[in-house]
Amino acid sequence: MERVVVAGAGLAGLQAVIALRGQGYSGELVLVGAEPHPPYNRPPLSKAVLLGDADDPTLPFDAAALKVDVRLDTTATDLREGELDTDAGTLAYDGLVIATGAEPVRLPGDGAIYLRTRDDAVALRSRLQAGERVIVVGAGWIGAEVATAAARHGCRVTVLEQAATPVTHALPAEVGRHFAPWYAAAGVELLCGQRVAAVRPDGVDLADGRRLSASLVVVGVGVRPATSWLEGSGLALDHGVAVGPDLLTSWPAVVAAGDVTARWSPRYATRIRGEHWDDALRAPAVAAATLLGRDETYDPVPYVWSEQFGRFVQYAGHPAASDRIVWRGDPDRDPSWSAFWLTGDDRLTALIAVGRPRDLVQGRRLADRGVRVDAELLTDPAVSVQATVAGLAG
Ligand SMILES: Cc1cc2nc3c(=O)[nH]c(=O)nc-3n(C[C@H](O)[C@H](O)[C@H](O)COP(=O)(O)OP(=O)(O)OC[C@H]3O[C@@H](n4cnc5c(N)ncnc54)[C@H](O)[C@@H]3O)c2cc1C
Repeated sequence: MERVVVAGAGLAGLQAVIALRGQGYSGELVLVGAEPHPPYNRPPLSKAVLLGDADDPTLPFDAAALKVDVRLDTTATDLREGELDTDAGTLAYDGLVIATGAEPVRLPGDGAIYLRTRDDAVALRSRLQAGERVIVVGAGWIGAEVATAAARHGCRVTVLEQAATPVTHALPAEVGRHFAPWYAAAGVELLCGQRVAAVRPDGVDLADGRRLSASLVVVGVGVRPATSWLEGSGLALDHGVAVGPDLLTSWPAVVAAGDVTARWSPRYATRIRGEHWDDALRAPAVAAATLLGRDETYDPVPYVWSEQFGRFVQYAGHPAASDRIVWRGDPDRDPSWSAFWLTGDDRLTALIAVGRPRDLVQGRRLADRGVRVDAELLTDPAVSVQATVAGLAG
């Protein structure tokens, strides 16, 4: 291969560049990114950057050492086999990595802030002034983090959630309901069961006809893969760029990684969407290997974390609806607790850990191995998760 082009200069795009060079690719390498900034980390945008603790999320990377031609402010607009169109001209490629990430789901109306880029974060931070009335739409991971920062800056914050409990896109109500008291404790008003029909610069219109006013509206209702530029190209899309476990798309010599993907997972026999930092960090090494003709697959136990209302929340796995939940600690009483999803024969499929990072590390490993655990032992916070492996314990 003489020229590999990477479309999208976020974490996945940068990791693809690093992996290609690390795995011995020595041909021409071009990194194309729509934003004016070199690659940066997004998780700090809704945490340290908004809180004012740090403001430079730039990822360390040496373009000269990596011999990569970085073209910022350049947007991929169309794709044919062997050719990528951008708003700055057409690039021929022998290999292509698609890493264009995701973009926020938008609500009808204008004037709301959506938090995806570092420019969004800087703009939002400057508007989080004490006394401001802020409405956050969505009590998911991002909404909770924005509410945390806004409350910390002395804003009067209301979070509107369509579902009956927070984080319903990821967690069942019996777990999500334990997040609700965190809002009140931080001085944030959480109103569940409120569907926003439209946003305005000075508030929101609810579906039931009421109008709520605010000086600032921030929307965090999920993301969708940034694939609009690929529609009509003929490349297979399925709520994201459809890739196999080797991260190959429907075209030869075109791979994809990170938030843009809808990856077939043999482990779960379903398509899994990226959407998490860990995916964008680790998948590109497999995408690079596939492009270079090596036989590798990527099918991990998904992992996401969030920092909200002073708590470190980590979630790993992919439970089935039929799994039962086992609690470790009392979420209504204990500052830290975990919950585990178990199959009918006590195999760990997923876990959430609040302030218990060791549970997460060990539980994720057990979920990866699909081993059986002693459900009774698992409820005891004094017993390590590792020690609950059936047969080992006792
Ligand atoms: C505020 C915020 C906080 C987050 N916090 C967490 C967290 O705590 N934990 C966690 O697990 N995950 C978190 N995430 C998710 C995580 O950041 C993403 O999963 C990760 O950034 C995905 O990386 P990516 O490179 O695939 O996509 P992106 O980071 O979206 O990067 C894609 C890049 O491609 C560019 N691009 C898009 N279209 C084109 C085009 N046509 N041509 C050229 N370039 C294009 C985009 O502008 C972007 O720069 C957070 C995300 C956000 C926004």
